[in-house]
Amino acid sequence: MLTDIEIAQSTKLRPIADVAGDLGIQEDELEFYGKYKAKLNESVFARLKERPDGKLILVTAINPTPAGEGKTTTTAGLGQAMAKIGKNAIIALREPSLGPVFGIKGGAAGGGYAQVLPMEDINLHFTGDMHAITSANNLCCAMLDNHMQQGNALGIDQRRILIKRCLDMNDRALRNILVGLGGKVNGVPREDGFIITVASEVMAILCLAADMQDLKARLGNILIAYTYDGRPVYARDIKAEGAMAALLKDAINPNLVQTVEGTPAVMHGGPFANIAHGCNSVRATRLALKLADYCITEAGFGSDLGAEKFLDIKCRMAGLAPSCVAVVATVRALKYNGGVPKAELAEENVEALKKGIVNLEAHVENMRKYGVPVVVAINRFHTDTAAELQVIDDCCRKLGVDYALSEVFAKGGEGGMELAKTICSVIDREKENTHFAPIYPIDAAIEDKLKAIAGDIYGADGVVFTNQALKSLKEIKALGGDSLPVCIAKTQYSLSDDPKLLGRPAGFRITIRDLKLSSGAGFVVAYAGDIMTMPGLPKVPSAEKIDVDENNVIHGLF
Ligand code: ADP
Ligand code: MG
Repeated sequence: MLTDIEIAQSTKLRPIADVAGDLGIQEDELEFYGKYKAKLNESVFARLKERPDGKLILVTAINPTPAGEGKTTTTAGLGQAMAKIGKNAIIALREPSLGPVFGIKGGAAGGGYAQVLPMEDINLHFTGDMHAITSANNLCCAMLDNHMQQGNALGIDQRRILIKRCLDMNDRALRNILVGLGGKVNGVPREDGFIITVASEVMAILCLAADMQDLKARLGNILIAYTYDGRPVYARDIKAEGAMAALLKDAINPNLVQTVEGTPAVMHGGPFANIAHGCNSVRATRLALKLADYCITEAGFGSDLGAEKFLDIKCRMAGLAPSCVAVVATVRALKYNGGVPKAELAEENVEALKKGIVNLEAHVENMRKYGVPVVVAINRFHTDTAAELQVIDDCCRKLGVDYALSEVFAKGGEGGMELAKTICSVIDREKENTHFAPIYPIDAAIEDKLKAIAGDIYGADGVVFTNQALKSLKEIKALGGDSLPVCIAKTQYSLSDDPKLLGRPAGFRITIRDLKLSSGAGFVVAYAGDIMTMPGLPKVPSAEKIDVDENNVIHGLF
């Protein structure tokens, strides 16, 4: 089989205006970024305001192996498959970050014959949204340091600055730095550090903002520091939000691209799924629901992280209600959950699979708790054997959950028709029984919200708070944090907070090490474990294989 980039480069793209035309979008509602990418401007939001919403389908997954289990691939392929069965569908994805592209994982535009194009552009600079977010965040940091330099009227404590500069790169050398060195004219010396752009609160805000006014208000609400006497300092206190919003004037609009089969895809925003909520923008999802009968979207990592936040944070905040949740499962991730080391995942191992399948059971049971029908999408790899696939079939039957084999990676939309039909018929069949509700009430105390997620989703016996966490909790409560949803930052590899506890762990408690108020985004981040907000590059970064030839053709992206 061809590589992802070979498939991408051998595909003839449709002009983006034609793809938009299929959705009834007019040319003056598009801002073109070349022939194959466009942003959808405000006028399309206004024109479609009164149109009824389509059905929202969330694609999530079991606990993955480090390589990813194919949520993006399944999402893209499902969009293609919907077109094949005559449905009017659109996909809504996150934008890739350069960190993983040059690190281990590679691009985030799908794979095989289920991809979003032009994949080189999407994975590299795309329409500049990452740059705009980076600039807006760093402007705020520059203004903050300048405020201290110019007399520090607010009395900002340089030891208690919360906002960090960001960069869309995996660069561990920038995790801890000193700034302001070199004497009086060069700033106030202090410890600082960079985070990756997708971990910035500005990214989370862009993805939750309803419109420009809301964006600006949220930017102004970012808690950036404390004063010497312990009072909070917000971005609005240093008058940063207007200029930050100005830098985001285009980034706030969703991007339209297409799949390898020419079906429409919006890609917009891309927050981390650990310290942030892990899904594409509210604006893109809302618009996609106006544009088509079905909108298929993805949330990052496994359902314990991405889907929980999609449902408890994004859907609640934006008033969205999904009609179906598709849980992507793979033979290899279930074997991994059954204890097989990464290097041996390609070999048949029915025993390990039987041991690891409890992970799928947990994710299906968890998603059912939200009052939305669940479908299991088995993402087929060519190494899967008939005996292994049979174990997943048996498990789904036992759980009484609808399921389908998905071969979109190898076959494109055609390989996903069974999955698409299953999802459409489940949505129809269950519509009277579908009553989406978040897992915890919004007015519960932060501790109770955390206990609800830990108990109902992770399967934990309880939550433990370190002294540092208790101290932060008190501060955050004083600032009104109890009224916000919580966003737990934890490992993606386990339902617990220990990456080594695979399968379906039991008899453990979740330790909350610290909490942070993301008051602009509108959630409280609870740290369960050491979460990297500036990743590093691996021993052999994929950047070493990426190249461009004399004809400007890019090679080595995957
Ligand atoms: P996720 O969104 O869950 O992180 P992706 O869809 O990005 O996962 O897929 C992760 C990687 O696995 C990509 O490189 C993709 O091309 C590859 N992949 C996904 N599904 C398959 C499959 N069925 N067979 C082979 N490779 C696959
Ligand atoms: Mg993905």
